[in-house]
Amino acid sequence: MSPEMNAEEGPDLVVAGAGGGLVAALRAAEQGLSVLVAERNEHFAAGNNTAMSTAMIPGAGSRWQREAGIDDSPETFLADVLAKTHGEADERLARALTEVSAPLVEWMADALELPMSLVTDFPYPGHTRLRCHTVPGRAGRSLLQHLVRAVHDHDLVDLLVPARLTDVVVGPDGVEAAVVTGPNGEERIPCSAVLLATNGFGADADLVRRHVPEIAEAVYYGSEGSTGDALRIGERLGAATAYLDAYQGHAALAMPSATLAGWATVMHGGFLVGRDGRRFGDETTGYSEYAAQSLEHAGGEAWIILDQRIHEACSQFQDYRDTDDSGAVRWADTAEHLGEAIGVDPAGLRDTLEQVAASASGEPDPFGRSYWEQPLRPPYAGIAVRPALFHTQGGLVVDGRARVLREDGEPIGGLYASGGAAHGISGHGAGGYLAGNGLLPAFGLAYLAADDVARGAG
Ligand SMILES: Cc1cc2nc3c(=O)[nH]c(=O)nc-3n(C[C@H](O)[C@H](O)[C@H](O)COP(=O)(O)OP(=O)(O)OC[C@H]3O[C@@H](n4cnc5c(N)ncnc54)[C@H](O)[C@@H]3O)c2cc1C
Repeated sequence: MSPEMNAEEGPDLVVAGAGGGLVAALRAAEQGLSVLVAERNEHFAAGNNTAMSTAMIPGAGSRWQREAGIDDSPETFLADVLAKTHGEADERLARALTEVSAPLVEWMADALELPMSLVTDFPYPGHTRLRCHTVPGRAGRSLLQHLVRAVHDHDLVDLLVPARLTDVVVGPDGVEAAVVTGPNGEERIPCSAVLLATNGFGADADLVRRHVPEIAEAVYYGSEGSTGDALRIGERLGAATAYLDAYQGHAALAMPSATLAGWATVMHGGFLVGRDGRRFGDETTGYSEYAAQSLEHAGGEAWIILDQRIHEACSQFQDYRDTDDSGAVRWADTAEHLGEAIGVDPAGLRDTLEQVAASASGEPDPFGRSYWEQPLRPPYAGIAVRPALFHTQGGLVVDGRARVLREDGEPIGGLYASGGAAHGISGHGAGGYLAGNGLLPAFGLAYLAADDVARGAG
């Protein structure tokens, strides 16, 4: 523990999980609080979900949007969240997160000196405004590395690795201690506030089968540390849970490289086909729900079809460049040759390309897709993709201050949850997921939790 921390009283805040939880640590430290971050995995900076992400963080009404002439507001964003979830999302939490979204991305740029910018080259499904902000390379790994450096540089934050939070002691007045297990055994750290930022339960196959059976057969492409620790600890303490069937899927995990081809491929005009060379839906509804579509209609074996223009547009993403470097993007000068090269029915693919050209030129699309940038031109490329589970979205019920609530709606004093540990704003299943619904609850709830602890300490 650093000299700033009183060994007997402990830190002002214990954060379990060094993903989005680092935002809470830095926000709390900025306000003079001492923080201990306990992280179970030595390789977290390369392997947790924040590191694996594409670093898209929505901010509604940000200064970058104003500079770009985009008229947006928390109300408009909230309406998008409610529309995408068909009104199923928790409106109180969605309101708190949409309101904090722009202050959050601006704070990340100003206080953390992250080089944030607005993504203006394509829209994500379900967002009626361009509002995703990101860092150069659009890679969560560099975003997380920046946060880790900031934590190391801060006198008020200690990072304990490997150290797994195994319990939280709660007395009549709220949190009394965090119990952490590391190489030297179990340690009881006195404190009055704990943030559970340990993500969801995607890495626990039994829990996935129980709560999210529709995606249990897909590849799990998320943090190995997401074993549901927050859920177990919270439930033991009497916390309510909600939306345990909610998850972020993704239909574009490139194979055999297991890298993210990304949905920018689709939003720039690409489309997915099965082995018969035929499409099986409107891809622009969203990449999350399309994972289950791919399992149901294509047996989980699909190919993204694109052209040179789309390929170049997607090269802004480090993940896409990694996919290309792996050799997963296969090229051919005609539809038939591409079909032969990638193992897709050539005649079916030729028919589909003709149909897509008509749809992109304004004719009605058989699946109702209306967003196309322009028809594809040869040479064509194909990327084999599999559906994946990225993370679970349900969890402990929190309020707009990130406080964990009991069944009766009363907070468990001093206990907070963020990111995949909390219940999220994506409604049920996969269809309510909007790009950014992972990092916004991860960073936004962490930010709100830190502010709440600081208010209590002040
Ligand atoms: C490929 C990919 C791309 C994505 N892109 C985006 C995107 O662009 N935008 C978006 O909004 N979302 C995106 N997501 C989702 C997003 O990454 C997650 O929703 C978000 O990172 C979750 O943050 P978190 O802090 O809850 O979890 P994590 O970042 O996974 O951090 C949790 C940490 O807790 C540690 N931990 C677990 N249990 C314990 C314990 N008991 N004690 C101590 N430590 C523990 C874990 O090791 C881990 O380091 C993407 C996900 C993937 C897989």
